[in-house]
Amino acid sequence: MAQDPITIQADTPLKIRYCIDPDWHPYESLKQNIHTGISSDFIAMLTQRTGIETELIPTNSWLETIELLKSGQCDLTPILNKTTEREEFLYFSEVWYRAPNVLLSLKDEPFLQGLENIENRTVAMTEGYRITEYVLKHYPDINASLVANEVEGINAVINNEVDVFIGSMLSTNNYIQSNGYDEIKIAGWAGPEDLLRVGVTKQNQALIPIIDQFIAQISEAEQINMFRKWNNVSYIDNTNYKLTKNITLFFSVLLMTGFIYHQLVRKFNKQLIVQNKQLESLKTKLIKTNQELLFLTHHDLLTEIYNRHYFNQAISNEENDLSQNGPISVVFFDIDHFKSINDIHGHSVGDMALKKLATTIKGLLDERHTFVRWGGEEFIVLCRKTNKREANLLCQNLNNHIKNIVLEPDVKITCSYGIAEKLSKETIMQCIERADQAMYQAKTNGRDCIIVAT
Ligand code: GH3
Ligand code: MG
Ligand code: MG
Repeated sequence: MAQDPITIQADTPLKIRYCIDPDWHPYESLKQNIHTGISSDFIAMLTQRTGIETELIPTNSWLETIELLKSGQCDLTPILNKTTEREEFLYFSEVWYRAPNVLLSLKDEPFLQGLENIENRTVAMTEGYRITEYVLKHYPDINASLVANEVEGINAVINNEVDVFIGSMLSTNNYIQSNGYDEIKIAGWAGPEDLLRVGVTKQNQALIPIIDQFIAQISEAEQINMFRKWNNVSYIDNTNYKLTKNITLFFSVLLMTGFIYHQLVRKFNKQLIVQNKQLESLKTKLIKTNQELLFLTHHDLLTEIYNRHYFNQAISNEENDLSQNGPISVVFFDIDHFKSINDIHGHSVGDMALKKLATTIKGLLDERHTFVRWGGEEFIVLCRKTNKREANLLCQNLNNHIKNIVLEPDVKITCSYGIAEKLSKETIMQCIERADQAMYQAKTNGRDCIIVAT
């Protein structure tokens, strides 16, 4: 919309200093010394349309703003009510903003409707505000408690220090919404609505017609936009605040859950690694134990050569193949007078004799031979691809070596040997039986000799 040009008089100041209420959001407030709220839009538009430069003089309270206006350190304040007291030092523009005042109480208070039902309730009011002047003037018996600003008044209600607070609907609502104060409500209307204007100091009277021209040109749409902008911002902020709170809570819970889950997984993984290591070492021990067990099952503990159990197993598995791979002979031998060695030299010497004999003989055999401790001091050598003549030669060699084993000075051993070559229709066990008989024959023949079974 095209605006009429604003007439600037010769005596109009081209630069003005203005003060605001630092705590009256959304009408106006100071945020880090920056002017925000509805009146900040008003000033920006005023500057733009009139060309008058403006400079904000920050204050700490509305009362200080009043003081600076009175002393002439400020030329103008953009949004306030007209009161008789203020008219003594200010000129007022036309009304450019209308806003009702309300009564605020805790939710459990009855609905008061208006100031006439206040009775003996304590009522907080902002010092220096036009509504406060109005109430004190028209309700002189009211139990009033003056506060420095609206925030203090609302908190006084929340903290049960007063029963009611009188404030501007827009700003109190904004404060309640943005802080999520669910416990308070609007309990009624308070006095006349605020008719908000610009106030200029008496020295700057020339500004009034310019400001009034400017106000007259503020369209309804611009008015609504200003209201929406500052009221919606707080509303959206508030919604976002609650939403943000919920989202933050949700993500905090999610993060916490994730964190706890992660910690638990880490803890369990650590335990698992430890347990796996223990399991691995147990497995190694088990394999070792199994190998030892298998060795023990198949071997004689003292001499560490095969035992009779292994021999029986191995031979029964091998029996069929054995006969097809050439002749098989068995050398069966038994230490002579071994009981006497134990008796005379002790059992440990007897053990040593058995061990030395086994070691000696093992060293003389190859892969064709299976060397077994058959019983106490009885041994057999199963000789594959060996006939009885060859077995006899082997036996003589064994005998020579056995005779050279020295147990203690002058203590030696001899053995009696029986040899049998497996007959085609004979089992290995039957062959061993015949070799045993041949050995027995050797014993009978005076020991320390070899008998080959016919
Ligand atoms: P022979 O010449 O008739 O075979 O007489 P021998 O004394 O060797 O035979 P006998 O059967 O009378 O005695 C065998 C001895 O072998 C008895 C037993 O104490 C001893 N013996 C058997 N096994 C072991 C062993 O593992 N260690 C020791 N030190 N002695 C054993
Ligand atoms: Mg013997
Ligand atoms: Mg014997």
